[in-house]
Amino acid sequence: MVKEHLVKLRELINYHNYRYYVLDDPLISDSEYDSLIKELEVIERENPELITPDSPTQRVGGAVLEGFRTVTHSVPLLSLGNVFSLAELDAFNIKVQQTLSESVRYTAELKIDGLAISLLYRDGIFIRGATRGDGQIGEDITTNLRTIQSIPLRLRKPLTGELEVRGECYMDKNVFSELNELQAKKGEKLFANPRNAAAGSLRQLDPKVTAARKLNVFMYALGYADALLPDSHYQTLKWFSEYGLRTNTKAKLCENIDEVKSFIEYWMEKREDLPYEIDGIVIKVDSRRAQELLGVTAKSPRWAIAYKFPAVQKTTKLNDIIVQIGRTGTITPLAILEPVFIAGSKVSRASLHNEDNVKNKDIRIGDTVVIQKAGDIIPEVVCSLKELRTGGETLFEMPKNCPSCNSLLIREEGEVALRCISLSCPAQLKEGIVHFASRDALDIEGMGPKVVEQLLDAGLVNNPADIFRLTKDDLISLERFGEKSALKLLGNIAKAKDRGLSRLLTALGIRHVGTQIAQLLSQYFGSIDKLANASEDELASIADIGPTIANSIAEFFKNEKNKFLLEELKNLGVKCSEDLQIKGESLKGKVFVVTGTLISFGRKEAKEAIESLGGKVTEAVSQKTDYLVVGEKPGSKLDKANELGVTILDEDQFLLLLTEGGYKK
Ligand code: NAD
Repeated sequence: MVKEHLVKLRELINYHNYRYYVLDDPLISDSEYDSLIKELEVIERENPELITPDSPTQRVGGAVLEGFRTVTHSVPLLSLGNVFSLAELDAFNIKVQQTLSESVRYTAELKIDGLAISLLYRDGIFIRGATRGDGQIGEDITTNLRTIQSIPLRLRKPLTGELEVRGECYMDKNVFSELNELQAKKGEKLFANPRNAAAGSLRQLDPKVTAARKLNVFMYALGYADALLPDSHYQTLKWFSEYGLRTNTKAKLCENIDEVKSFIEYWMEKREDLPYEIDGIVIKVDSRRAQELLGVTAKSPRWAIAYKFPAVQKTTKLNDIIVQIGRTGTITPLAILEPVFIAGSKVSRASLHNEDNVKNKDIRIGDTVVIQKAGDIIPEVVCSLKELRTGGETLFEMPKNCPSCNSLLIREEGEVALRCISLSCPAQLKEGIVHFASRDALDIEGMGPKVVEQLLDAGLVNNPADIFRLTKDDLISLERFGEKSALKLLGNIAKAKDRGLSRLLTALGIRHVGTQIAQLLSQYFGSIDKLANASEDELASIADIGPTIANSIAEFFKNEKNKFLLEELKNLGVKCSEDLQIKGESLKGKVFVVTGTLISFGRKEAKEAIESLGGKVTEAVSQKTDYLVVGEKPGSKLDKANELGVTILDEDQFLLLLTEGGYKK
């Protein structure tokens, strides 16, 4: 029985290895693959007599594609052992310490999700590049690698003899999205993720294709060198960089395992901010002498381990596609899924964005689909696994009429979404009220979608102003409301009246006016009356407000229904102005970006301080940035700012700039 299962399991894993390593076209998610491998490892550990040399646990993944010459690696390019929890990491650390009987320093590095490559330099000249292949034999992809700008064809400093370095070839997330958009336009197959796109781009027989794909590399390991390199791996990375080989600057030399853990925790949270994908952290014993003492197994070194982040992608069945109506009438298709757990939460619905997306990706009801969840972002359907189709899948058609009010849906010029433009559409009203009460808007705690639905069903609320007319008796008449909960909600509603203009503008849900624009408008005008009287031209003259936004604002305030609503809100005591706190103009026109943790300011406070002196805060560093304010543990923005020559301010310098401008906390 066990043997039979083992054979099946190996066959299955081998098949997925082939899809992943040879075709660059995986059918299942990495975490599912990892769980198959885990299962195999457990069975083999319990039945060691059943281990065969060709078992996937004994080999490094890839194989050579036809059409490429082969390269035999002088020093094998191994894979890495995996851990999935801090407890497993502790076990790794204990084993290392026991073997070495000394305290150990580690280099912690980002685990870039691309594919391993090897570069060979002779007397400083790039002479050969290869894929990892099965670890012993890889593919000669020299011509393709020569098209990658960050691979130096000659090292920056003279070097005698041979140097073989290893690293990861990857594709930036934005390059990946652009590539897939282009593929979709051309009606060609979409790539499942940046890793597969990078692998597919690199293993092209025509180097022109590779050149067009904007690949990049980070070098992270020494294969071998005739010259003497530092004993420390961390110092070796610095050495690489001096010689012109691109390394990842986030790598950190850690004195102990606790520092490694902090590094892991930090990047687990910040991974979304990186321009490229990482799937974990690689932890390496820093001293090469110690590495040699620890040695390697057939598949991976004993001196390094990969800490894998919890999965953000899983596969599941798409049971149905329904449509959702947003507060501005946008109709979006929504996937109803067989529930799966991703990164600790149950996912049973995922966004399909729009009709074109469903068509381009050829997603059908009944398909097995890959779901992705990243940070706080709503889960989305990445692609469908067409190879697993049974024939019973059905195509999805967008409705012609609004499922809530039955009016004909329209598609405005230049837009991908269908829209219901009926002003009396109940579904839009519900979404509008939920938005009105949401956290970034008037922040009415306890008034989520369920309560809003109850209020609408009972006819107690027909527009946002009605919220402020609710009485205790109204609320008690609703299911699940008692005296206490009713009073609590009324208290929260009362508090919401004083939130001020900026939040009120966000709450009104004017098209194209999100929290940032709302803040800008409230700072500029100070009261809703002044804003309502502003002409479209005046609006468009404000920095950051283009003609589309200006038009949308002007149209909103021209509308009689909206005018009436604003009058009502005012009469009900809702604050329609902002207490402006302009303290000076010393930073007028200056653009700031803040990165890392500041000690004396929260992020929001720092932003308010800058704005109070007339400055502006943006998210990303660009040519337009005047200052980058750097707190503790800055992110990649610091590198970018250095690259662009932006003035860097530490916290003290930042405080000085503020106080000189007249800012007082
Ligand atoms: P791996 O990706 O888990 O780890 C080893 C690799 O990490 C190295 O070869 C290197 O390419 C990379 N790496 C990135 N940054 C690094 C750094 N700073 N230092 C050292 N190495 C770094 O192992 P693998 O053998 O390449 O692949 C196995 C993994 O591939 C599986 O865990 C699974 O996630 C995925 N896989 C998926 C499927 C599938 O069907 N979905 C099939 C096969 C493999």
